[in-house]
Amino acid sequence: MAKKTKYAVGIDLGGDTIKVGATAKDGRLLFKGVVETRAEEGPSRVVKQIRKGVAAAVEACGAKPIGVGVGSPGVVNAEEGIVENPPNLPGWGRIRLASKIAKKFDLPVFVENDANAAAVGEMTFGAGKELDSFIMITLGTGVGGGVIMNRRLLRGEHGGAGEIGHMSVDYDGEPCKCGSRGCVEAYVGREYLTKRAATRLADAPDSTINRLIDGDLEALTPKVICEAAKTGDPLAKELIEETGRFLGYALASAANLLDIPAFVVGGGVAGFGKPLFDAAKAAAKERALIPMKPRLRVRAAKLKNDAGVKGAAALVFFRGA
Ligand SMILES: [Zn+2]
Repeated sequence: MAKKTKYAVGIDLGGDTIKVGATAKDGRLLFKGVVETRAEEGPSRVVKQIRKGVAAAVEACGAKPIGVGVGSPGVVNAEEGIVENPPNLPGWGRIRLASKIAKKFDLPVFVENDANAAAVGEMTFGAGKELDSFIMITLGTGVGGGVIMNRRLLRGEHGGAGEIGHMSVDYDGEPCKCGSRGCVEAYVGREYLTKRAATRLADAPDSTINRLIDGDLEALTPKVICEAAKTGDPLAKELIEETGRFLGYALASAANLLDIPAFVVGGGVAGFGKPLFDAAKAAAKERALIPMKPRLRVRAAKLKNDAGVKGAAALVFFRGA
């Protein structure tokens, strides 16, 4: 299929599944597959599963890739390709993931934290293509961040930079899974958001949300809130605007700190779309320093469902061959 096309294999390592993609230099996806992570069987098994995924991509493309990129949860030492204690992958400790994959395939392997990989993906193929510097935010179960400064990834001293989800927007606010309080993740992360929606719903029995979920709170998802907002439901609209506002306050702090006024927002919760982005931008403008205000830009990520595998592949084009 892609005999002469240069491509990279991207691995999106998750707790349940490992997504695999083969991406050409222009961003075209040549192959897409999924293997089970089998995390409960320990790191050796997971490494075997990753190799299985790489082999499937190579076979489907009928040619050797220029390299393999891996987006992994947890703190990653990108220089040495080491993954440390990723959440959702029990018993890992410190694993030399890059060398374990490289040994098998004789290919350059690049490992990066998944939020950083998403940022590199948007820079290479997506909404950050024309931006010198931007901050990528992934709104999902957690709130991930990656900082691109002057077309370079800002990793920090130990590879842990860009944790925008744990910037506090209220010193006495909601408790966050990280142990702190008032983190922006504790307002805009998927679980927290749906929990807040459920609480509010008790006081708004006439909300369209109630009709859509038929009284089943388990069915309350960001997608449902989005649908309700489209019908003009006041509670849904309020929840989306509020989410945008919390996000915007964190964006203002990040912009002030780094002198980066451009933000690319992806992940499931970003599906709220324009009302979310408008509210985030307005709140950021309200709180940012005066010179920063007119420069603020909040745009939607472009890679959507393939962000994980394309971002991982982009690591190869970014740093490798
Ligand atoms: Zn936190």
